[in-house]
Amino acid sequence: MIVALDGPAASGKGTLARRLAAHFGLPHLDTGLLYRATARALLDADEPLDHGPAAVAAARGLALTDFEEARLRGRDMGEAASIVAAIPEVRRTLVEAQRRFAQRPGGAVLDGRDIGTVICPDAEAKIFVTASPQARAQRRALEHARAGEPVPFAVVLADILRRDERDASRSVAPLRAADDAVTLDTTALDIAGAFAAAVAIVEAARSRRPG
Ligand code: C5P
Repeated sequence: MIVALDGPAASGKGTLARRLAAHFGLPHLDTGLLYRATARALLDADEPLDHGPAAVAAARGLALTDFEEARLRGRDMGEAASIVAAIPEVRRTLVEAQRRFAQRPGGAVLDGRDIGTVICPDAEAKIFVTASPQARAQRRALEHARAGEPVPFAVVLADILRRDERDASRSVAPLRAADDAVTLDTTALDIAGAFAAAVAIVEAARSRRPG
């Protein structure tokens, strides 16, 4: 069973994807890490983030298994990743590795922006996880504060709105819900409530599966 979760920044899809993977005993791929690692490689090499050939070379060199998450999660890396992710050749370079991961025997959980629309259009379960920009900014601001790097709410909100706009307006694989995705709005839900709702969506999809 392939479970596809898509949604905007700080919607909770990463947490839900990890928990669903553990619950259903499936491997999980956070596809945002691919774009973050590509951006990190460019920054480390002092290349501009919109340099297509350098970005493609960086994307080709990625191994799905050894992401140094601490260096990919910083506040600026989400922004950098979304610049790299708008380059069509970078997306094309990363498609195959994601599809291979999804095709593992038994299935997989993938989360990102284009899993249900482009990477795994035939996924059995598709969830579009969303929340109001204010709720998402509040969560992200709390994460920054907990990490000892407080950022004003207005700045976090502006970051999120800018990233949403870039991700939703790019020409290739823009952020959007697949026509057959179930939307899960987590604005008023805590993690336990969102997880219960997500499990119910996957169970319903699984029970509809032929065979
Ligand atoms: O999900 P995360 O915040 O880690 O993603 C970072 C950026 O990577 C997103 O803002 C988006 O531009 C890009 N991304 C994407 N397609 C995916 C996953 C992430 O374009 N499947």
